[in-house]
Amino acid sequence: MSELVVVGGGPAGMAAALAASAAGVSVTLLDAAPRLGGQIYRQPLRDADGSGAAIGPHLPARFAALRDAGVELLTGRLVWAVSPVPGGYELFLATPEGAGAGRLVAPALVLATGASELVLPFRGWELPGVTTAGAAQALLKHEGVLLGRRVVVAGSGPFLLPVAAALVRGGAHVAAVVEAGDPLRRPQALARLGAAPRVVRDALSYLAVLAGARVPLLRGAAVTAAVGGERVEAVVVSRLDAQWRPRPDGERRYLVDAACVSFGFVPRLELARQLGLSDHTAPGRPGAAARHDGGVTGLAGVFVAGELTGIGGAHLAELEGERAGAAAARYLGHGAPERARHGALARAGRVAAGLAALYPLAPGWLEWSDQETVVCRCEDVTVGALRRALAGGARSVRELRSVTRCGMGYCQGRTCGPIAQLLVAAATGRATALVGDLHLRPVATPVALGALGAPDAAPADERDADPAAAGPSTVV
Ligand SMILES: Cc1cc2nc3c(=O)[nH]c(=O)nc-3n(C[C@H](O)[C@H](O)[C@H](O)COP(=O)(O)OP(=O)(O)OC[C@H]3O[C@@H](n4cnc5c(N)ncnc54)[C@H](O)[C@@H]3O)c2cc1C
Repeated sequence: MSELVVVGGGPAGMAAALAASAAGVSVTLLDAAPRLGGQIYRQPLRDADGSGAAIGPHLPARFAALRDAGVELLTGRLVWAVSPVPGGYELFLATPEGAGAGRLVAPALVLATGASELVLPFRGWELPGVTTAGAAQALLKHEGVLLGRRVVVAGSGPFLLPVAAALVRGGAHVAAVVEAGDPLRRPQALARLGAAPRVVRDALSYLAVLAGARVPLLRGAAVTAAVGGERVEAVVVSRLDAQWRPRPDGERRYLVDAACVSFGFVPRLELARQLGLSDHTAPGRPGAAARHDGGVTGLAGVFVAGELTGIGGAHLAELEGERAGAAAARYLGHGAPERARHGALARAGRVAAGLAALYPLAPGWLEWSDQETVVCRCEDVTVGALRRALAGGARSVRELRSVTRCGMGYCQGRTCGPIAQLLVAAATGRATALVGDLHLRPVATPVALGALGAPDAAPADERDADPAAAGPSTVV
């Protein structure tokens, strides 16, 4: 049994595992993806020779140190539930297909589960070929597959630029990058990025790729409709006012075979909520973030790091991971040195705040949809159905879910939950923090019934395999 289980193999989780193991802690690092890296360092599924070890070929060299440090790597394993048990915490595992994959028990945990994407709905966004920007990027990084040949990248936030640049490099024609906000009109927030040469350098490199491919960069505009039959064939791009309401004068169609949309990220809180960790909400944004003090939570032996604690980018996530790993080591009695780099953490925190201030959400997106626009794609719940439920007295996201089934489908509200939260807040005039959300799920990720009934069962492919390769000894 490892002393520490780190959930999430992104920059935060990898840094936490390294810091703890450097202090002498035995660590298991676990991720749902087949390979470590998290979102930003997502690896191809297979190497050229067809193999697929937990660490892919493109990770920065320092992360290969995980292998040398003896950290037990457990990839392709979802944690679908976590609960306190005497002397520690018990995690219930499943394969990505939802089959039960045993349990882990450890005295301490670092949760580094990252974030998922926020998409604001518009007419036709459920058409095949319309995806999140992250999904388009994941397809490219994981499998080397382009989402489309002619693509529009739209939404708001700094993430649009690397995705558009990656699509250009991958051979797509990016017809436009469509940013709903206008960062150039926020000189104060822009000036704060002067203290972030890394961010500026990255942004300039993406802009150079886009300029080289003559990709138009629109500001103050949004995709307000996707049009097509079997799949998306065109998108309507509308000019917006400062509140993101479509302006009557400016509408243009772009012929596309794909559109990628992203409005930033929402922390993934399912496991933190199962443990009852407290959280906080940023004004005007949906979702919430795990509350902590230097990575230490209110629950003994549970530490948090990375975007689960607030959206701040990979560099901040990594610094927080280091801090959480060292704090966990100290908790376990390993006398780890105080590794937190306070100056670097404070600087990275200021950069994150600066980026958030550059790209605030504005309420006019509510006008991009009509009554028939789908909000919950799993259960086919429309804006009209939600508005009727709100007119009928629903005052919280959970009430909305009970009345309409919004958030009861396969993704359990991961996509529509933040949208529902913004809708309820707008309709009731209350802050997003006061209208609830859908992060609390007794089953964090979809699993087969068999996994609930017999959580110890190993997946069939492992039962049939050589016992030496049947998984780590820490699975009980
Ligand atoms: C789709 C997407 C794409 C992104 N791409 C970029 C990019 O290209 N460039 C950039 O600068 N930023 C990108 N970001 C932002 C990015 O999340 C951060 O900058 C950085 O990766 C955060 O690091 P992290 O360690 O906090 O989380 P992540 O990197 O998100 O890592 C969290 C890990 O936890 C795992 N996990 C979550 N829940 C469970 C569970 N229940 N069981 C098991 N494993 C679990 C996930 O599989 C994931 O690998 C992206 C974000 C998203 C959501």
